[in-house]
Amino acid sequence: MKKRYTVQATIVTTIAVAASALTIAQSQLEITSFSRNGKLSWKDTGGTGTNRAVQWSPDGTNHWYSWKDADANLTGLGPEGTVDVPMFYRVVSPDPDYQATEHYTYFEKLPLFDPLTPLDTNEMRITFMGSMIPLPVRRAQAEMSVFVEVGWQDDPSDTYYHGKPVDQFIFDMGAGVSANYAAAKVGYRLMDKVFINHLHGDHMSDLVHTYCFGPSADRKSPLYVWGSGPTGIESPANSGNFYDDGVKAFCSHLREALRWHTESFSFQGTAYEDYQPPTQASWGLPHEPLPVGEDAPNDAYAMVPIELDWRQVGGVAYSNALTSATITHFPVIHCRKGSMGYKLSWKTPGGDELNMIYTSDTKPETNCVEQAKNAGKGVDVFIHEMVVPPDVWSYKSMGLDAAPSVDDPLYAEYQTTVNALMNIQNSSHTTQGAFGYILKQIEPKPKLTIATHFPTADDTVASALNSVKAHCPEVEMGRDLIWSFDLMVIRVFPDRIEQCRAAVSDYSFYPPARLSGKTLPPKYNDGKGGGDPYYQIDLSSEIPATNELGEVNYRIDGY
Ligand SMILES: [Zn+2]
Ligand SMILES: [Zn+2]
Repeated sequence: MKKRYTVQATIVTTIAVAASALTIAQSQLEITSFSRNGKLSWKDTGGTGTNRAVQWSPDGTNHWYSWKDADANLTGLGPEGTVDVPMFYRVVSPDPDYQATEHYTYFEKLPLFDPLTPLDTNEMRITFMGSMIPLPVRRAQAEMSVFVEVGWQDDPSDTYYHGKPVDQFIFDMGAGVSANYAAAKVGYRLMDKVFINHLHGDHMSDLVHTYCFGPSADRKSPLYVWGSGPTGIESPANSGNFYDDGVKAFCSHLREALRWHTESFSFQGTAYEDYQPPTQASWGLPHEPLPVGEDAPNDAYAMVPIELDWRQVGGVAYSNALTSATITHFPVIHCRKGSMGYKLSWKTPGGDELNMIYTSDTKPETNCVEQAKNAGKGVDVFIHEMVVPPDVWSYKSMGLDAAPSVDDPLYAEYQTTVNALMNIQNSSHTTQGAFGYILKQIEPKPKLTIATHFPTADDTVASALNSVKAHCPEVEMGRDLIWSFDLMVIRVFPDRIEQCRAAVSDYSFYPPARLSGKTLPPKYNDGKGGGDPYYQIDLSSEIPATNELGEVNYRIDGY
């Protein structure tokens, strides 16, 4: 990675301008006062100065020295302070002794956890299958997806899983998350209820994969997809044009677009003989669960949208008396109307209630605060997005470790990027400081607050923690607040919350299938109940395993 130690604007300063207070444009770092061989005072209200440092020079032109040479105690600028300075100084970003990290030490130190461990009967388990803001899909972090399981029912006959959760839900299905579901051995049968917060690609891209391959594995039942109804936005203003941009239209078009895939694999069984589809009453839905298109309501290629009125605060999306799980929704503010946060409440067999909120993407807004207050009861886990400052987002996206200086050829591009990202931040996302402000408003505090949709690493987290602490000084990383990462597992019990990291293989095959009944004959069948995988292909150019003379061209056992 290209490394730049950037001399910030107006930072080479001589005593001649010593009287004026300087504000450094891209950093929010404010030099409040300094004097010749005297005191340098600074304030960093944004809390972004952790990795900046002061260098000094005897002549102000060459030979800049680390501040440590002058003051061994200074390892980087904190939020504010006062120290002695030599005659010439400059602020560099990052601290020359600081290395941009490609680690998230907090996560690496969490105890390893076997994701096949049966849940406790009173446990709500939250696993981050994706945790990243786009762009990009990172190898370390897929885009958003949170998998939540509640309770446990034993099955001694299942020697691999030993049972299954009482109920389970997927919140968002962003790009790249399928690999984490497979690595954590979550079978497709458990990936049948997906709650989409909004229809950005980073929240729904892997629906395609889940929908397509579930029926080839052990989801022999429909895929249920919750999301918002049409936004009702005139697009653009005064055009008279109103798109049907709700989840029903989305599923309907997606299902049709995936026709080639679904037909081609329909030589496999895709429905159980005895599957009873849920009803509006049994799942507490806002309307009857009807598949889009012409798929049968018991077929695994049936896509069943549940369209929610996104304007409702506390509207019920799902309420299942059999599993004691209820999911409500509330509007958030993100990019276009229709974005929603979700709250999952689950009554444990022991009679306690466990609550989890997932706001997904939003700029700071009041609904999530009220939901998290939960009428004075508070919630166990509050998951809310957070975005890095636009300058960090910009220079990291440009492949740099620090902001380019004003005389750098990249400076113009950097400024353009900062401005573009500032617009995205202001319309759609929650800054580090705003996250702290929101958390300050919530009383009682969530037992655990989790920042997500965030490019997590030691450097970004250190900066973000500073920003949050500027509002909530009492908050402790680890105890009260953490940053999510792929395969982070949060085990919520009535009396405690445990954090761990799933131990998985990077080379996993897909999870063992667990069919729960006899399947109906496939659509393309051999007339005897079996599938016919040859009907849809043209064999005229085939090279057979054995030729007309009976000679073996290649073995049929795969070797
Ligand atoms: Zn989004
Ligand atoms: Zn997003």
